[in-house]
Amino acid sequence: MRTLLIAGNWKLNPTTVEAASALAEGVKNGLGAATDVHVAIAPPFVFLTQIDGVLSGSPIGLSGQDMYWENSGAFTGEISGPMLVDVGCTHVILGHSERRHGQGETNAQVNAKLKAALGVKLIPIVCIGETKDERLAEQTEAVLLEQLSGSLAGLSPEEMAGVVLAYEPVWAIGTGLTASPEQAQAAHAYIRGWLTQVFGEATAARVVVQYGGSVKPDNAIELLSCPDIDGALVGGAALKAADFLAIIKAG
Ligand code: PGA
Repeated sequence: MRTLLIAGNWKLNPTTVEAASALAEGVKNGLGAATDVHVAIAPPFVFLTQIDGVLSGSPIGLSGQDMYWENSGAFTGEISGPMLVDVGCTHVILGHSERRHGQGETNAQVNAKLKAALGVKLIPIVCIGETKDERLAEQTEAVLLEQLSGSLAGLSPEEMAGVVLAYEPVWAIGTGLTASPEQAQAAHAYIRGWLTQVFGEATAARVVVQYGGSVKPDNAIELLSCPDIDGALVGGAALKAADFLAIIKAG
């Protein structure tokens, strides 16, 4: 009952609008009109308008990499939900570990952004995941519990059903280290169990939970065939159209 979502998080890449357009064009042309899975790409903010034009007529969703919780006002450097919608976005990534750890973003801030995103009908992709030290200290589930309850606080079951979660162990992001399918499935099963407890079984069964962290063409099939893994959030491998398309095909 869940459709996989394969999303490409381009992060701070590429550095020109020309290269960004070419990458989007490559994904669009390779994908064609019909897919069994949902696909989205998250380019840097400044390229969104251009890429929305490139993606015209394709089923590929367009995502922001972050957004602010206020819609407008005196907030220098921020980008709001209504702005993302206006330039053609369908999705927004929230609480990525590079923002949680690099920018000190808190669960309360992620929660405020999430509510703002739902308010403008963007599909939020909320990222959670433990660091290497936390995993070694056997705190993975405790960290997930804290991030889930803090980031998703106050949502109704109906709202929760429309949120995408991305389990991204921090130690696997951009490191070439991937969680084994067993490690990933165990974390996803824990997340699904928490969703069942808090929002009920019917809602938990509808929530798409992606895996992220060094997903590549050669490990995508075994990760995506785990029962509670409903797609992938792809960083490095999303910067080459051929690799990203191979991951989509694995889905
Ligand atoms: P990676 O990044 O695929 O390069 O590990 C994943 C992510 O940060 O979303």
